[in-house]
Amino acid sequence: MTEVLDLVEFDGVSPDRALAALAGRKRALHSGHRSYTEHAVGQYLAREAGRELVPVRDYWVVRRDNGLRWELYAWWRRYRSADGTLRELRRLRHAGARSSTPGEVAIAAYAAAFGAAASWPRRWRQPFALTGVPSSPRQIRILEVGLDDGSSTVQFEGSPEDAKAYYDTYGAQQVQTVVRGGPARPGSACVGCKQLTGCAALPRVPGVLGLSARSAPLRKVSVSDLRYHAACPAQSYLRSLHLPKEAEYADSAKLGQAVHDWLDRLHRRHGHPACSVTDMPPLGVNWTTGRWQVSDGDAAAGRAMLLHHVDACPFHDSGLIEEVDSEALRAVHDTAAQALVISKPDLLYREDGSWIWRELKTTRRRPRHGEDLLDLYPQLALAVTLLASGALGGDPSGSRVEVEILRPEGSDPHMIDPTDPERLAKARSVLHGYAGPWRDDHVWPAQPGGHCRQCPVSQWCVSAATSDSSEEEGA
Ligand SMILES: [Zn+2]
Repeated sequence: MTEVLDLVEFDGVSPDRALAALAGRKRALHSGHRSYTEHAVGQYLAREAGRELVPVRDYWVVRRDNGLRWELYAWWRRYRSADGTLRELRRLRHAGARSSTPGEVAIAAYAAAFGAAASWPRRWRQPFALTGVPSSPRQIRILEVGLDDGSSTVQFEGSPEDAKAYYDTYGAQQVQTVVRGGPARPGSACVGCKQLTGCAALPRVPGVLGLSARSAPLRKVSVSDLRYHAACPAQSYLRSLHLPKEAEYADSAKLGQAVHDWLDRLHRRHGHPACSVTDMPPLGVNWTTGRWQVSDGDAAAGRAMLLHHVDACPFHDSGLIEEVDSEALRAVHDTAAQALVISKPDLLYREDGSWIWRELKTTRRRPRHGEDLLDLYPQLALAVTLLASGALGGDPSGSRVEVEILRPEGSDPHMIDPTDPERLAKARSVLHGYAGPWRDDHVWPAQPGGHCRQCPVSQWCVSAATSDSSEEEGA
């Protein structure tokens, strides 16, 4: 996106040719990514029509030398008025991305107000090259532009003095937080981190995904990504780019999320009391709200599921529980698959020195004879390999995976022992089946079919089956 806009704004290339240049690179842009980029560039440039600001290639950098060299700047796109009295910074925001914090806006405003024009250094560790182009802006504006609809919001507007006051209130604090740092929190961001190789906080565990060792660029993955890939590689790729989605959740998935959220809230209570009947939604009330709202009938089925949880609640034996991790996000580096594996157990708690991984599944489908939970829910397979490897810490020999399957008619508890060699081998084989094709994929082809109708990113997919063609297929 930035590359295309750079070509258009700085080199006078037409949008079509700029997009074509992207498609002609050695690593060609995925057709779905291209179709979204076309849309976003179109939205952005349509918004620009008739405006008279000049795009600025240089960064605006505030530099201080006090023993250490400090450089303060913002990545965002830069514009100025023809006479140089207005400087504007714009953050391009993808659908679903968070808004800028006041601290970020303050740093951007301060850099625009007082920064010297500078070109990007040739190497990351080098300082910016100040160009000496003089400027004394009198007005600073910080904008956020939505790429899905071209909408824009003013985040800050004022004089350099206003920018200084805003920075003193919000920015200085943010800078201190960044400089001071804090404990490492391994997660999705590790994949782009320059300190990754030396970081002691990220567990390295070869073979979590059941693949043999290879040399390949590091990729981030979750079990959901692997499931999307198995259904359609193009879908998994376009989801990973965080493109705008349509109708992401079917009703059954919304109900599952509503049940999860309800229990999650109860399980975060201070002292972790066991869930009781009085904690559950009252009879005859549609208790679902917001994005997880479902029909009255589905809500009644969800209430029945929640009531079946009461007897299955793990906190009935809370005397044995030493620690509950309610923000249980875990990242490990599978050094064989070269994958940053991200997982989010529904509940993780420690009992007698060992971690217990609990997953909750909601379904209205009756159990089928002979089906293996590890095949049915590959998240459980990952729970098994992670616990068996000791990657979560604690004593792996006492670990277990607990599965609570909630149906409107009842609750079905299961336990999987990750130290059981047969279960561990099965888990590895399940993950290998998913992760092998994913790791080897470099082109992310579409597998169009009836599922395109439920695919939330099909609007960007040039191969998506239209309703007509999938009906033909069905016939
Ligand atoms: Zn409970």
